[in-house]
Formats: sequence, structure tokens, C-alpha cells
Amino acid sequence: MMKRNFFDLKLSDLSGVLSDMDPKPFRLGQVLRWAYVMGADGFDLMTDMPKDLRDKLDEVLDLSPMAVLDELRSRDGSVKWLYGLHDGELVESVMIREEGHNTLCVSTQAGCGMGCTFCETATVGLRRNLSLGEITAQVAYAIRTLEGRNRLRNLVFMGMGEPLKNLDALVPALENILDPSGFDYSPRRVTVSTCGWVPGIVRLAKEGLGVNLAISLNAPDDSIRDLLMPVNRKYPLAQLMEAVRAYPLRPRQRITFEYVIIGGINDSDEHALKVAGLLRGIPSKINLISYNETSARFRKPEEGRIEGFQRVLLSRGCLATIRRSRGEEIGAACGQLRALSKGTVHAGEK
Ligand code: SAH
Repeated sequence: MMKRNFFDLKLSDLSGVLSDMDPKPFRLGQVLRWAYVMGADGFDLMTDMPKDLRDKLDEVLDLSPMAVLDELRSRDGSVKWLYGLHDGELVESVMIREEGHNTLCVSTQAGCGMGCTFCETATVGLRRNLSLGEITAQVAYAIRTLEGRNRLRNLVFMGMGEPLKNLDALVPALENILDPSGFDYSPRRVTVSTCGWVPGIVRLAKEGLGVNLAISLNAPDDSIRDLLMPVNRKYPLAQLMEAVRAYPLRPRQRITFEYVIIGGINDSDEHALKVAGLLRGIPSKINLISYNETSARFRKPEEGRIEGFQRVLLSRGCLATIRRSRGEEIGAACGQLRALSKGTVHAGEK
């Protein structure tokens, strides 16, 4: 029998599985602590529980459901992992090291179906949605590599895929991530990024999880956005901004906008002025990211252009920051995730 991915269980379902094996109510807390806090990669490590219970759990549940096929470390401290899933699909996550803490960039789909013309993941197309457990196992695996205080502080859903096209797995994944008995993250430390899938923004708002919302804006107007992001033809800027304005925010919480600056396409001062107009009245910050050259079709902006763009935004009162690219030489930077395997992956390979 194939073991079930441990992380596919909602915490309440795990409680049911456990009580069938051992009636003691404190077992659930023990297993959760080992798996989610201590990062145990097997039940045999859970030495404060009876051996026969550990064996029973090990028969049906898998704490290491993905194969780590490759690990690349970049000079700036970023790490990229390539995971093989049970059916041979491939997915990547990237951990970015900052002063004293880490941010994990989590994937939600194998490939992506949104077709953004500047993004490498789009060339793969959508292979399939990740399950709840395939999303959260990425977090567990990253925690396993960290020691002591060097903790995984922030989770950003900006890896492969469009998170809001996989809400049936993303929402329970976020619930396990935020649950105090699970990964116990504050919603302030969790950000979901979207290309602008409006029905998903509306539904995420209704879920009331309190996580941060990031919008990959990337264009000052509909004609440029249509060219870069096909989703805009279905949900143009007016509809997108209306959904963004309706997203519930706590005091001092802001919407994040991401803006990939592409040379000669969306990078002029006039474009920056239009962007400032779009953001007017929205509690927001905007991250400017230099285009990582992944295709011959587009190029990086000229030297100093990002700073010029930022100056215009700042002069209009926008909170604009420039995001340094990380992990470029290991193909871990924004838009580079393509999950290229070195060898062939066989289903179930570990
Ligand atoms: N689908 C979600 C999350 C994945 S994309 C979204 O669109 O937000 C993560 C970010 O990478 C997006 O902001 C996207 O605009 C950016 N990106 C994609 N290709 C890029 C490239 N070649 N250079 C820089 N950023 C890129």
C-alpha cells in the first residue's frame, strides 16, 4: 500500500487517525510538535512515544513524501531545492538568506498555466496542482535544514505556479501553516502573490486568514499589461484594482505590488507616473525588480533606470523599494524556476 503524505492531513484529520491507534489525547500534540516544530523526518525519531505506535504510524504515513533530487547553493546564501513528486512531476523552492533569518519561496503548482510572456515557468505550462501536503512539505523540508536561531521567518507564495488557481489546496495549507499546533506562523509573515486572478482574490479575502496579498502588477496600463500577462485580458486593471481595494487589511498592513522592470517596455518616467496613479488611495508598497533575462524576447532596463523609476514613485508618495535579485547564478531568481531535472525521475523514487 502506498503511504499517505503526512502533510496532506488537516490537523483535525490527523487527530482521527491517531485516536484509532492510541486513545491518549496528548499523542496528537506530541506528533505535531515533532513533525511541525522539530522537523522530524521519520516517526522513529519520536522517542517519547511507544515503539508500536511509531511503527503503526510509519506503516500508513510518510513524513518525507518528496525526493530531494538536487540542491543548489548560491554565493549570496540562497538555496534552491528540486523536488521529485510521487508521480514524477518536478517542483522547486528557494530559500533566501537575509540577516539572521530566512524567507522561503514556496511553489503551489508544477509548472504554471498563466502564460506571462516574460516568465520562464510559463514555458513549462501547467503540469498539475500541488496537494496540500506537497505545498506544506516544502516548508517542513526547509525547516529541517535550519539550526538554532537561524529560523525560517517568512513564507512567500511566489514560487512556481499561480497560488490563487489552486485555492482548494492553498487554503488548507495556509490553515496548517497558521495553526498554533501546526507550523504556527503569524499571518504577518505569510504572503500570497498573484498575477491578478480576480476570483481568487475575492475568495481569499472571504477566507479571512489575514495573510498578506502581493500583486504582480508589472505594467502601468491595460495595453502593456495585455502584452505581458494574458490574465489581464480577462480581468483588466479596473477589475483587479477593485478586488485589491476590497481585500481586508489590518491597521498598518499594506498590499504589496511587484513590478518587474523590463527595458524599453514598462520602464519610463511616464509609466511610473501612471503606476502612482493606480496605487493612489491604496495602503501599499511597491517592490521594483529588475527583469532577469530568461528569454531573448525582453531585456534588462538600462543602468540607473530602476532608480529613476523609483524616484518618480517616491515623489508621488509611493513607498517604492528596489529588490535586489538573489540566486541568479543557480537559476533561483524571480521567473527562473523551471524545474529542470538533471536525470530522469521515476515515480516514487527517493
Ligand atoms: N503567479 C504568482 C507567483 C509566481 S511569479 C504571481 O504572478 O505573482 C513570482 C514573481 O516573479 C512575479 O512577481 C513575477 O512577475 C516575477 N517574475 C517572473 N518572471 C520574471 C523575470 N524574468 N524577472 C523578474 N521577475 C520575474
